[in-house]
Amino acid sequence: MTFLRPTLLTLACLLASPGFADDLPSLGDASSAIVSPQQEHQLGRAWLAMLRSQVSQLNDPQLKNYVETSVYKLVETSQLNDRRLEFILIDSPQLNAFAAPGGIVGVNGGLFLNAQTEGEYASVLAHELAHLSQRHFARGVEAQQRMQVPMMAALLAGIIVAAAGAGDAGIAAIAGTQAAAIQEQRRFSRQNEQEADRIGILNLEKAGYDPRSMPSMFERLMRQYRFDAKPPEFLLTHPVTESRIADTRNRAEQAPSGGREDSMTYQLIRARVQLIYEETPGLGAKRFRAQLDENPKNDVARYGLAIAQIKGGQFDDARENLKPLLAKAPNEIIYNLAQVDLDSTSNRLTEAQSRVDRLLTQYPRNYPLNQVRVDLLLKQNRPADAEKALEALLKSRPDDPDVWYMVAETRGLSGNIIGLHQARAEYFALVGDYRQAIQQLDFAKRKAGSNFPLSSRIDARQRELMEQERLIKDMMG
Ligand SMILES: [Zn+2]
Repeated sequence: MTFLRPTLLTLACLLASPGFADDLPSLGDASSAIVSPQQEHQLGRAWLAMLRSQVSQLNDPQLKNYVETSVYKLVETSQLNDRRLEFILIDSPQLNAFAAPGGIVGVNGGLFLNAQTEGEYASVLAHELAHLSQRHFARGVEAQQRMQVPMMAALLAGIIVAAAGAGDAGIAAIAGTQAAAIQEQRRFSRQNEQEADRIGILNLEKAGYDPRSMPSMFERLMRQYRFDAKPPEFLLTHPVTESRIADTRNRAEQAPSGGREDSMTYQLIRARVQLIYEETPGLGAKRFRAQLDENPKNDVARYGLAIAQIKGGQFDDARENLKPLLAKAPNEIIYNLAQVDLDSTSNRLTEAQSRVDRLLTQYPRNYPLNQVRVDLLLKQNRPADAEKALEALLKSRPDDPDVWYMVAETRGLSGNIIGLHQARAEYFALVGDYRQAIQQLDFAKRKAGSNFPLSSRIDARQRELMEQERLIKDMMG
C-alpha cells in the first residue's frame, strides 16, 4: 500500500499548515461550532473521492446493494439525523468497517469473512453508525484544537489507515508524528467506544436484531485474535477487552429474546465474498463441496459451489447445482442472478435476457438486476438500448462512479461522443480527479460547438465542478 503515501503526506502537510486553525470559527461549547454538519458533509464527500482514488474496491452490484440496503435499514432505527450516506466497499480480506464524517460508510470484504451471522455484521455497523450519530468526529476535533496541535491531520490519517486496512509502516510513521494528538484522541476514544456500543445495541434491538450478536462478535474476535501479533485494524482502533465484552453482554441480556440472529441473504452474500478471497475457484469449489457433503441440505454451500463452478468454467455442474435451488425458491433474486450469469457466460443470451426481464417486472427498481440487464444488452451489441437502460439506473444512483464508468463506455459505443465526455467528467469528479473532470468538459464543449443550449449547460456544470474543487482546497488547506 505504499502508493498511499504521497497523498497522505500531502494531505497531512496541508492540514497541518498553521493558517488552517486560524481560519476556523472560534472555539464554542457546541461541537457544531467547530465543524458544522454541512462542512462535515462536504469534507466527507471530498475524502470519499480521495479514498476512491487510493484503494481498490469491490464493485459487485449484489454486494454493494446488500451493504447499502442493510445499512439503510439500520439507519431507520438509529439516532442519525443526516441520513445522506455514501458507501465504499474496500477490497481487503482484513476485518474492518468505519464511519467517516459526512455519512461515509466503509466496509471491508473482511467484515463478511469474520462476521458469521447477519446479526454480527449488523452489530459492527450499528456501532459505527453510532459514532456518526453522536458526532464523535466533531467532538474529537474540538478536543485536539484545545491542545493546539494540527487539527485534522491525525484524524484524517487514522481514517485513511482504517480504510486501507493496512499496517503500512509509512502510514504508521505519519500517524506517529501526531503522537500527542492521537494520545488525546484515545482518551476520547474510550468514552466514544462505550457510547457507540451502548447506542449501537439499542439500534440493533430496535431494528429487530438480537442484540446479543454484539457481545458474541466481540467474544469470537477476542478468541480468534488473542495470540495474533498483528491484529486487524478494527481491533487496534476498537480494542476488545473483557470489560467491554461484559458491558455489552450485560446490556444485551436486558433485551427480550426473539430478535433476528441471521438471514439466508446474508449467508448467500457471504458466500460470494468468500469466493472472492479464495485463491482459485477450484479451491472455493472444494471447500463448498466439503460443506455440502457434510450436510446435503445446506443451500448456501450449494449456491457457493455453483458460483465457484461458473467462475471455474464447469458450466454443466453449476447448472445441476442451481436446479434444485431455483426449484425451491424460483423468485430468489440471488439464485436467478447466478443462473443469468451462467447463461450469459455460456452464451445463452436469449435465456438470460428473458429471465432478467421477467424478474424486472417483479422487482423493477432492483440495482443488480438493472445492472445485469445493461451488461446483457451490451453483450448482444445493443448499445443504444443499453444507454437508455443506464439513464434509468443513473436516476437512482447518480453518485455511483461504477455506473458513470459504464455510462461513458456505453455512450462511446453508441457514438454519443459529447455524452461520453460528460460521463467521464462525472466519473473523474467522483473519484477525486477534478483536473481530468474539467478537461473532459472542455472536450465536450468543443464538440458541442454552436449548439448553444448544450454548450452553456456543459459550461455551467464545469463551473460547478471548479467551485467544488476550490471548496475542497479551501477546506483542506
Ligand atoms: Zn468504534
